[in-house]
Amino acid sequence: MGARASVVVTGTEVLTGRVLDRNGPWLAEALRRHGVDIGEVVVVGDRPDDLTTALHHLLDATNDLVITTGGLGPTADDLTAQVVADVQRRTMHLDQDLEQRIAAVIARLVAAHGWSVDAADLAAATRKQAMVPEGAAVLEPVGTAPGLVVTAPDGATTPPVLVLPGPPRELQGMWDAALATEPVRHALAGRTELHEHTMRLWGTAESELAASLRRHAAVADLLEVTTCLRDGELEVVVRSSPAESPTVDALRDALITDFGAAMYSPHGATIDAVVAELLLSQGSTIATAESCTAGLVAGRLADRPGSSGYLLGGCVTYSNEAKASLLGVSAGLVERMGAVSEEVARAMADGVRARTGADIGVSVTGVAGPTGGTPEKPVGLVHLCATGPAGSKHRRVVIGGGRNTVRRRSVVEALHLVRALLG
Ligand code: ATP
Repeated sequence: MGARASVVVTGTEVLTGRVLDRNGPWLAEALRRHGVDIGEVVVVGDRPDDLTTALHHLLDATNDLVITTGGLGPTADDLTAQVVADVQRRTMHLDQDLEQRIAAVIARLVAAHGWSVDAADLAAATRKQAMVPEGAAVLEPVGTAPGLVVTAPDGATTPPVLVLPGPPRELQGMWDAALATEPVRHALAGRTELHEHTMRLWGTAESELAASLRRHAAVADLLEVTTCLRDGELEVVVRSSPAESPTVDALRDALITDFGAAMYSPHGATIDAVVAELLLSQGSTIATAESCTAGLVAGRLADRPGSSGYLLGGCVTYSNEAKASLLGVSAGLVERMGAVSEEVARAMADGVRARTGADIGVSVTGVAGPTGGTPEKPVGLVHLCATGPAGSKHRRVVIGGGRNTVRRRSVVEALHLVRALLG
């Protein structure tokens, strides 16, 4: 069996959702790349008792390493170092060299920002951050807080606790140094390399995927397979050791056979990457005409470096007047068919293609809601069109789930329509 680690993310702002946790997912991926299995990610507020409970829960025989994030700052609610020391039965002491190094960092920050600070307060804050558990390995601060690797006294079987700061930039900047410390290297020594294989499907139901995996249970059950439905796409993730590669290939082949064109990404490329690759390989340019998504499709196409190789531009045409003036969609057509219709979607895509000279025009027009729906054209109804030299494709969908979901899902629909046109 490989090594396994668990994470305690601390911070009331993360627990209550004011700040989205970026450390748990980042550590899970960094550990996976290092061949370490992630057991649990637990989030606790800035309450010492809750952190203590979480640590006692995780410091058992199933984990080789426990990592904490956050709570290393100079304020009173930053108590992680003390709590970890208590749990690992270590006393705290002042590391005077560290205190001087932190003081130098803070002095530079104060000078750079021109802050006016009380010298005694500053000294107390510096001293607090320089208090470290006895026997701990100190990781140099990337900001002002040092990281720590805290082991239990000799002879104890408890795994070490790697204590990292909360700000993601600081935590990530300390990661390599943390892996290089002796207790962490020793704790993770039993690791086996783990690979993650992602496959993506579009245009099929989760139940079909479940049925297919059941049919191929003889192969699938040998592997750790997880599936996830995201923005209408089905994602299959298989974790395996190098020795299991032939089994992964067998499962991939079976799914390709079962799903055909719906398996649009057997090796994990995102729809964004697939569309970019198709445009680049065909030397085609693209422009967008967007109503309810108001630029989100163009934004997504521009997310990738090198997008100027295919994206010419786009028009946000929310009002009927803008559809007419920017895209040449006739007022009569809008009047007759309604702004959310196949005909208007086609006219928008044709219009942006003609106006920009792009090879491909893609359009989105829909009722994002929450108001504006009618029995014939309910909230969530979206018409999309992709058009190019070889023809065009239209799609009508009704997306549930509220305004944000309708707009976000429409972008994915638009990208898949472009893929279908180019593919
Ligand atoms: P500092 O010295 O900056 O106080 P710290 O280790 O005490 O460092 P926290 O006080 O817990 O860290 O968090 C500081 C800030 O870092 C938070 O306000 C938040 O913006 C960010 N942060 C902390 N934890 C996370 C997290 N899990 N995901 C994303 N951002 C985080």
